Amino acid sequence: MHMSCRMPKCYQESYMYDDFISKIDIVDIISDYTGLKRQGNEYIGLCPFHNEKTPSFHVSRDKQTYYCFGCKKGGNVITFIRSKEGLDFFDSLRYLADKTGLELPEKGGQRSNKKAEIINRTIEMNTVAAQFFYQNLKAGRGKEALEYLKKRQINPSTVKRFGLGFAPDSWDLLVKYLVTKGYKENEILTAGLGLRTKKETIIDRFRNRLMFPIFDVRGNVIAFGGRVLDDQLPKYMNSPETPSYRKKDNLYALNYARKSEQNNIVIVEGYMDAISLYQAGIDNVVASLGTALTERQALLLKRYTKNVIICYDADLAGQTAALKGMDVLADKGCNVKVITIPSGKDPDDYIKSEGAGAFRK
Ligand SMILES: [Zn+2]
Repeated sequence: MHMSCRMPKCYQESYMYDDFISKIDIVDIISDYTGLKRQGNEYIGLCPFHNEKTPSFHVSRDKQTYYCFGCKKGGNVITFIRSKEGLDFFDSLRYLADKTGLELPEKGGQRSNKKAEIINRTIEMNTVAAQFFYQNLKAGRGKEALEYLKKRQINPSTVKRFGLGFAPDSWDLLVKYLVTKGYKENEILTAGLGLRTKKETIIDRFRNRLMFPIFDVRGNVIAFGGRVLDDQLPKYMNSPETPSYRKKDNLYALNYARKSEQNNIVIVEGYMDAISLYQAGIDNVVASLGTALTERQALLLKRYTKNVIICYDADLAGQTAALKGMDVLADKGCNVKVITIPSGKDPDDYIKSEGAGAFRK
């Protein structure tokens, strides 16, 4: 039985919307009502609830709350919209859905609770799998993967930060491990970690690959990407769409980039581009993972910054994707700059200097 079943009905209902609310950024919403300036971990501005000349209204992006030291009003994004727009709980949700382009979960209890449970279970299993891959990388099995990372000059603390791992060269080590941890075969299939063979056995989807856990903005492991360590194809393989993962809704490394002090975000193509740049001190980098940038990714980015730098490969495919991405972002009201690393220049230095000047006020 899930915790929420024992709670009063109103809590059950708001529990249903937790996931929706967590995708909204309070700083973005409140910025439409009053100018906010970043000060340390908080955003400060003139209170939208009472008249004042000195800002005493504080918004915390980490906690997703606001508080006014003048009139003592405080709360979360829902209480803010309720009191500013004079709406009830459900109309506030609808208002926020319209404003952000996020999909509001269907009202009507059971099914959504069930869905939320499946998502949680999938994320939990992915976390167990990520630990398994990480341990394998550190153990002797991950030698080739470690050599590859060394060649790319990725240091151990970066490996740890991004949770990189190794999927062993075996048919079912992960599946067996997950079964010992209490996961059922159908759950493993649903999470995209296993494949059913013609003989009706379940084998590991990822074998002999360097593993990249894919995080959501809150840092949950929602999927994986795996890179081969030899010349096999496909070079990269991703989790399929699962209850926890919709490729079009996500940007790799945004869980870190959203915490950056920079006033812009740099979009690159692949895992390794993002990880290398992050290690070089560019902490405002995300990867679109090969896909053309989607509208939902643009809206997701816009919750954190309107200033976006696209830095794709210099080849034709990269440049075509960059131009398309520029249109999608501009359409959502972002300021976009496309940069290409000139051959012979160091990407880290180039992005640092271009990025710093790109949106200077
Ligand atoms: Zn106030």
